[in-house]
Amino acid sequence: MNIALIAHDKKKDDLIQFTTAYKSIFFEHTLYATGTTGLRISEATGLSIHRFQSGPLGGDQEIGAMIANDKMDAVFFFRDPLTAQPHEPDVSALMRLCDVYSIPLATNMGTAEVLIKGIEQGLVEWRELRTKKEGDENAK
Ligand code: PGA
Repeated sequence: MNIALIAHDKKKDDLIQFTTAYKSIFFEHTLYATGTTGLRISEATGLSIHRFQSGPLGGDQEIGAMIANDKMDAVFFFRDPLTAQPHEPDVSALMRLCDVYSIPLATNMGTAEVLIKGIEQGLVEWRELRTKKEGDENAK
């Protein structure tokens, strides 16, 4: 599965702690992240992560484009609800696209734990089955 990792500055330590705790699960998947988040996580965990631009410089939109092209299967987005973000429109747009395309989105540690355990147990495999089915139909 393709998984996106994003954390606002005050939540980066939380996401690093989270990805460290569940490193063995994340290791099984293809990881994408906004610039600084990806750098910090890969330094801390050794996980291989494709890094986009930093969030305020367009990274959220790059991840949004993957969602719009049906190339993202889950998003872990640790938002900071107490600090104004200069790129708030991009943040809203990313979350909106997750809803448009029914992409599982965890915006805090509580939901993130449920989602990563669900991924581990195969509960999100409907994404791959659906994509495969559409591919088969297009091939007809
Ligand atoms: P960053 O971007 O990982 O480059 O800090 C995250 C964000 O603020 O959207």
